[in-house]
Amino acid sequence: MIKRYIASILLFSCCLLALPYTLVIDAGHGGKDPGAMGNGAKEKNINLAVALALGKLVEDNCKDVKVVYTRKTDVFVELNERANIANKAKADLFISVHTNATAGKVGPQGTETYTLGMHRAADNLAVAKRENSVITLENDYEEKYEGFDPRSSESYIIFELMQDKNMESSVKFADLIQKQFRNTAKRIDKGVHQAGFLVLRATSMPSVLVELGYINNASEAAYLTTTAGVNAMAKSIYNAFLAYKK
Ligand SMILES: [Zn+2]
Repeated sequence: MIKRYIASILLFSCCLLALPYTLVIDAGHGGKDPGAMGNGAKEKNINLAVALALGKLVEDNCKDVKVVYTRKTDVFVELNERANIANKAKADLFISVHTNATAGKVGPQGTETYTLGMHRAADNLAVAKRENSVITLENDYEEKYEGFDPRSSESYIIFELMQDKNMESSVKFADLIQKQFRNTAKRIDKGVHQAGFLVLRATSMPSVLVELGYINNASEAAYLTTTAGVNAMAKSIYNAFLAYKK
């Protein structure tokens, strides 16, 4: 009798301890930081629209998943704070949503998904440099990021020897996202890459950074600023999330 009583207490406390699956959706940039700009569009707005549409799909269809946003409005959030939000929420998965641009006037077309690691190509380093450079808008960024200079190639050497225990899961999820961009949204698939993103470095769970397309390509900017485009990109990431979680 006592045994059964203890067993039921244990069972009950296990239920209390069972945490829901937590997904953190990070809309890149915001507020005073517009991100990349081109063709009359701002990256921060595209990222937020896709992040909110993705979050709504998960909230409406996955009752066992708790969605946490790093921002839901047009506000500036520091890079470290975005990772802090995910770590504090004990997130199971982190998705950072971004839109790409090249230095040239007219950008190429295509989607990419990044996981944390050392870049193998100059192009990948360029994307990380641009995305990381937002820290220069933060006060005391030299101290906060321990002397990391987002624009200097030398700073990226720290990513070379880094062991990431979440690498395998992150790459698996990144592959699923690219497959969905190709098949569901019918976008050009520019593959899965590794690069040194500060926001991914500070998170302690599987994490990816998505580049939805090139804002300095007229046709991609037009697509990503329509409701149909935003919904197709959100649906793609959502489908990939369902496949990954299963
Ligand atoms: Zn960005």
